[in-house]
Amino acid sequence: MPSSKTTNSHFELAGERIAPGERIQFDLPGAQLYTHTPLNTPVEVINGNRPGPVLLICSAIHGDELNGVEIIRRLRTLPALNRLSGTLVLVPVVNLHGFINQSRYLPDRRDLNRCFPGFETGSLGSRIAYGFFNQIVRKCTHVIDLHTAAVNRDNLPQMRADLSTPGVEEMALGFSIPVIINSGLIDKSLRAEAGEIGIPVVTYEAGEALRLSEKAIVTGVRGITNTMRRLGMLPARKTKSAVAKPEIARSSKWLRASTDGMFRPLVELGARVAEGDALGVVSSPFTSLEEIVSSTVEGIVVGMARQPLVNEGEALCHIAVFHDMESVEEKISAHGDVIETDPLFGIEQVKDADIA
Ligand SMILES: [Zn+2]
Repeated sequence: MPSSKTTNSHFELAGERIAPGERIQFDLPGAQLYTHTPLNTPVEVINGNRPGPVLLICSAIHGDELNGVEIIRRLRTLPALNRLSGTLVLVPVVNLHGFINQSRYLPDRRDLNRCFPGFETGSLGSRIAYGFFNQIVRKCTHVIDLHTAAVNRDNLPQMRADLSTPGVEEMALGFSIPVIINSGLIDKSLRAEAGEIGIPVVTYEAGEALRLSEKAIVTGVRGITNTMRRLGMLPARKTKSAVAKPEIARSSKWLRASTDGMFRPLVELGARVAEGDALGVVSSPFTSLEEIVSSTVEGIVVGMARQPLVNEGEALCHIAVFHDMESVEEKISAHGDVIETDPLFGIEQVKDADIA
């Protein structure tokens, strides 16, 4: 029988007890630095007045991926959260060591997103993963994990999701951005391990490591609120302005350098390319030798190298293949225009009161 409950319950997380209608910030005790300086993880919980899902938004599991930190900072100030049903749990920086060191990795070069679900008595990454997974993730019903491309690469804003995991497709479609890549699960990643215990996780990938992109940030904030509407956590939107019907890629392929040298792209993220189209040029720094990098598929450019010095075989352009390429191209362009006119865009010039 569906619940007729209209009042939310207290929410308990990591020893904190949050009443309906209350929001708190606290530090989750974590690892220490070599100096014995405690390194605590800042957590914010917003518990709505009405019952609903418990949604975790986390970012910087890769410590140099910063767009998600700013996405959470903007999301937490939205007046719409006053009408929240359910509970929002925000963890802007999961990998604090990497964040401090401006690095994707932990100090021992381990990738925290390959350490889940972790061990209580394991190495640093394993312990951090264990604490985060057991104290935070397990208390949530849904997760949106925020990422960017790896360092020196750039991603068109996109959803990465394993659509065969129950609950994932609804979240990915609900995010309402043009491109979804149906990507498999990597062992020991947060997405795989949370999915394993029945908690659907989608990953938002947008922009570059160590850079903030206004377009990636605003797209992310709007995508999260769109998913929250889909999950019944926020009231339905009055206008459909920031909503795009997503397209799911059939496949995707990285095009690689055929020689060593300097790469100059000839296409931009979001461009539609045909088989045989020039994606860029790799030139020899000391001769007039140039080699064109041509696409071997028809598709949309969803990822790109931003660092020109490349070796043969290096990944340069990520091309996603869709059933209806023209439609995806149009949606990317239209969605980009909507995001650039969003009141959140360039928020530093806008007073809080002006933001819907
Ligand atoms: Zn990442």
